[in-house]
Amino acid sequence: MIAVNQTEKRMVMLMLDTLMDKPLQQALKNEHIPAIKYFMEHAEYYPGVVAPFPTMSVNVESTLLTGHYSDRHGVPALVWYKKNENRVINYGTHVFELVKLGLTKSLYDVMYRLNNKHLRKDVKTIHEELQAAGKISASINPLVHRGHTVKEITVPGLMRYFININKTIKTRTSDTFVYGRLSSLSTLKKHSYIWNKYGFNNNFSVQEFSYLIKTNNLPHFSLVYFPDHDKNVHKKGPIDLEGIKEMDKQLQTILESFPTWEEALKNNIWIIIGDNGQARVGKNKQSALVEIRRLLKPLRITKLRKGVRKEDQIVLANNLRSCFVYTLNHEEVPLTEIAEKLKRDDRIDMIAWKSNDWIYVTSGGDGGEFKFKQGNDLKDEYNQSWTIEGEASVLDVKIQGKAVTYGDYPDALQRLYSTLHSHAGNFVVTSVKPGHEFITESSPSHPKGASHGGFHKGDSLIPMIVTGTDCSPDFLRIVDLKNWILNLLIPKERNN
Ligand SMILES: [Zn+2]
Repeated sequence: MIAVNQTEKRMVMLMLDTLMDKPLQQALKNEHIPAIKYFMEHAEYYPGVVAPFPTMSVNVESTLLTGHYSDRHGVPALVWYKKNENRVINYGTHVFELVKLGLTKSLYDVMYRLNNKHLRKDVKTIHEELQAAGKISASINPLVHRGHTVKEITVPGLMRYFININKTIKTRTSDTFVYGRLSSLSTLKKHSYIWNKYGFNNNFSVQEFSYLIKTNNLPHFSLVYFPDHDKNVHKKGPIDLEGIKEMDKQLQTILESFPTWEEALKNNIWIIIGDNGQARVGKNKQSALVEIRRLLKPLRITKLRKGVRKEDQIVLANNLRSCFVYTLNHEEVPLTEIAEKLKRDDRIDMIAWKSNDWIYVTSGGDGGEFKFKQGNDLKDEYNQSWTIEGEASVLDVKIQGKAVTYGDYPDALQRLYSTLHSHAGNFVVTSVKPGHEFITESSPSHPKGASHGGFHKGDSLIPMIVTGTDCSPDFLRIVDLKNWILNLLIPKERNN
């Protein structure tokens, strides 16, 4: 094993699920959050980094680690339909959904296939690149963690009692790897019992990461994932300061694992970042929740428990504030028919599908339409080139001369392009306006709270706090962070 030279620069990336700028600013002003304040005093602060679409953790993590959107990394969202296997993949929105789909398969999807099959092999993760450069990296609790080292996940006995799954699963991962109690570093059992979600919680992430610090084993790069705040915000709405205070205590614990707080910052680059935002969901269930099956009547939609049957016409893959709608027979139910049906509801924010080279976009209600493709006519704020025809204002896209800028839907064209090229099948992708959430058969819903998965900037912009470097990424998007991180950690050969 390669040892870390104590004088080498190391990077710690703390991914705080659902950290958002506005509540963070409120907490900084009105609450006692000394750890975040301490980081902020020494940091560059970026309030709006663009997350990939759909704004779901597995897609965000895959984009962060590979430096590509889903058209290249191949993990479209939390829930999607895999055409060649004719089944819905669900990495786990809700345990009831997993039970309906058959838990064994779903657990195997999230524990094995996500990293070893679905995440495409022709893209390299940060862990793989660092390992190839002789650097050590750690993954503490993210679901996506592919690297070159083969490690064993041990499935807890109680889980195996209920489902038919092997005791151990081999997976390719980072050198240092924590996956709840299924693969842990310390021998501490605290925070890892079944009622602690087997260690998939902030306290366990902190306990395991602090163990690395205290044993002098801080790797060159650590990605530490804090899952808890997602649920707070789903339940209590976007401005939940209690969850931020809780995370601040956990950050204090991390800082205190070093001899002093100054020491913690001195030799290390720290990145504190969210993964996706959340938009509020209205109080009134009737108006807030968009029952997409009703909009698609009378089409025959696959029932989760039964799997895809011959007579079915439509498969739904619901990602909370966005949804993939697949037609199983393009001749019988063309994508334009699905779009027409969705268009009748003015709570629908965006409806898009691809046909030949073009991507067609419209919205619910009286929204106009436009189409776009990769081309050389126009250039956007991220240096990407497009050809656009029609009313691009549907997505708040502004065109001045040859320049394209975005408003309510950051990096709108590339994020839609990548989503519609992320996996096989004929499908429409759609999202709802802030205030709303899609519901399908037994999907979780969050009236009076908040939700994500959508295309809107509320779901899509996340804050980032960076200490220890004044170098910033090329663009403020999660997809641009990998290059920046590798440039900071793997210095270019002086003689080259
Ligand atoms: Zn969530």
